[in-house]
Amino acid sequence: MIDKPTISRRGFLQGMAAAAVARSGTVPFPARPQTPSAPREKLHVFGYSDVKLTGGPLCSQRDRIHDSYQGLDEDRLLKVYRQRAGLPAPGEDMGGWYDAEGFGPGQVLGQIISGLARFYNATGDTATQAKVHRLVNGFAATIDSDNYWYPSLKASTASAAYTLDKILVGLLDAYQFAGVRPALDIARRCVQGSVRYLPPRAYERFEAPKQAVYDESYTLPENLFYMFEMTQEREFGELAKKYLMDKTYFDPLSRGENVLPGLHAYSHVNALCSAARAYLILGEPKYFEAIRNAWDMIEKTQSFASGGWAPNEEFVVPNKGLLGESLTKSHAHFETPCGSYAHLKLARYLLRFAGEARYGDGLERVLYNTMLGAKDPKGDGHVFYYSDYHPSTQKAYLPEKWPCCSGTTPQVVADYAISTYFWSQDGIYVNLFTPSEVSWKVQGVPAKLIQTTDYPESGSSELRIELAAPCEFTIYVRIPGWLRLPAQLALNGKAIAVSGEPQSFVAVHRRWRTNDTLQIHLPFSLWLQPIDEQDPNKVAVMWGPLMLVALDSSPQLPREFIAKSGGGIKATAYSPLTFEVSRAPEKLLFVPFYRVQDEVYTTYVQQQSA
Ligand SMILES: [Zn+2]
Repeated sequence: MIDKPTISRRGFLQGMAAAAVARSGTVPFPARPQTPSAPREKLHVFGYSDVKLTGGPLCSQRDRIHDSYQGLDEDRLLKVYRQRAGLPAPGEDMGGWYDAEGFGPGQVLGQIISGLARFYNATGDTATQAKVHRLVNGFAATIDSDNYWYPSLKASTASAAYTLDKILVGLLDAYQFAGVRPALDIARRCVQGSVRYLPPRAYERFEAPKQAVYDESYTLPENLFYMFEMTQEREFGELAKKYLMDKTYFDPLSRGENVLPGLHAYSHVNALCSAARAYLILGEPKYFEAIRNAWDMIEKTQSFASGGWAPNEEFVVPNKGLLGESLTKSHAHFETPCGSYAHLKLARYLLRFAGEARYGDGLERVLYNTMLGAKDPKGDGHVFYYSDYHPSTQKAYLPEKWPCCSGTTPQVVADYAISTYFWSQDGIYVNLFTPSEVSWKVQGVPAKLIQTTDYPESGSSELRIELAAPCEFTIYVRIPGWLRLPAQLALNGKAIAVSGEPQSFVAVHRRWRTNDTLQIHLPFSLWLQPIDEQDPNKVAVMWGPLMLVALDSSPQLPREFIAKSGGGIKATAYSPLTFEVSRAPEKLLFVPFYRVQDEVYTTYVQQQSA
């Protein structure tokens, strides 16, 4: 029996709600919260503070982005809000999307607060906590006596729901993760000040009022349910239910009808997280069915080899070769920070509900091949936005400053920590292989798991256990679906039989003692991922979980050198994760997408016919 060191307030509340549902059968809205052992969750997330990233590329990117956002000028971030409130508003305009008449006035302030609150919780950096306090206080000072809080008239008419969604997550995270106690009441005031500007229901873009085409009210429920969890005030749950887009989206998805083609991709994947939260709170199975079916539709018919999806931000009609066509027609193949933020969140919800390793595989694939490959934010509002799979291209920043992706960038990298491990009643789940430590309790005994690895430079990792007293529990290790050779496990240096098939969690159950070690070896190999059925010879070259790209300064790739099954490519001796094509007249190098900086690269290459 495993217990968490401290049951979070949120977890406690959730469990009480599940208990209430169990007692009364169908409850339209739970009066009481749930416990972490709620039957809807097979696995549970750790808190940010339970998991420490201690090295490797994920930690390094998280820390660089933390530093970048910690360095943002607070006067500038608050300027549009202060100007509208008639307060002194020092500092330069932010520019780009952020200004009063920009595409999304003041919009990403909430997500920046959210990201900083998560960074503080994960790292304990008190300067970050102080910044969260100052930003929340500075924002609160701009709210009018009638609770009007929007940064401009444009924000309250064109993006009332969109801006509310983002400020809510910032305030709730500030409350929950950075100890900003007044933030909850400020969030209440924001909802009250928003109600008169919100639409009567969730609209799809094509049916939305003209002035609010991009308002995306269908993403609101996730954070309104979060508000309900924090406050236990029924009105927020009722408001969340009002924006669940059942008729046109969740109902057909739950029946297996693919309604994705033509929809704006990121906001609709983010809306799936609203369905996930609805399942968690309301317990209606259709929401679980909807997200499970949507995940499969996205993975099987919408995804590039990276795991990213939706060229030009729109889901395609499946099985028409449109992903392949997009390679030369577009440079906007995956909206990376926003898309990976929603994808990782959705994967964690599905891991919690289903406990299946395939969602961990999908999480790993998108993380390593999209977000980890993002160029670092410049600090002036320019961020990496689209992953580009066009031949002979380069990574670039979006020309406009402070787009949506500048808000999700800090959130998604902060979430790497809580994507690494999960826990259940009988054990701990290792989902990602990255240098890290996780602390919890087994039957009241403090426990720590310390992971040492140079993954993904190699497929080896070692888990060492620290325990105050011997304890019986299970360590579950994700055996990835990309494995072509069997995984090898060793306990304290002695090989153990592994029954786990690829794409499952293998269970190692025993009475663990302090300093016990579990060695894991996941042999990487080369494999090819075709773009689609219409063009099976146009392939991405994969190395284990990593999508490789050809470093290519000429527009024409010597395509005949890619043999079937990747046989013509081998690892170089002089640089890790660098591969060369042995038969090329001029040296042709492949490296993981995440390693590319300013080099010209090509993602999909033509495979030689048999
Ligand atoms: Zn975005």
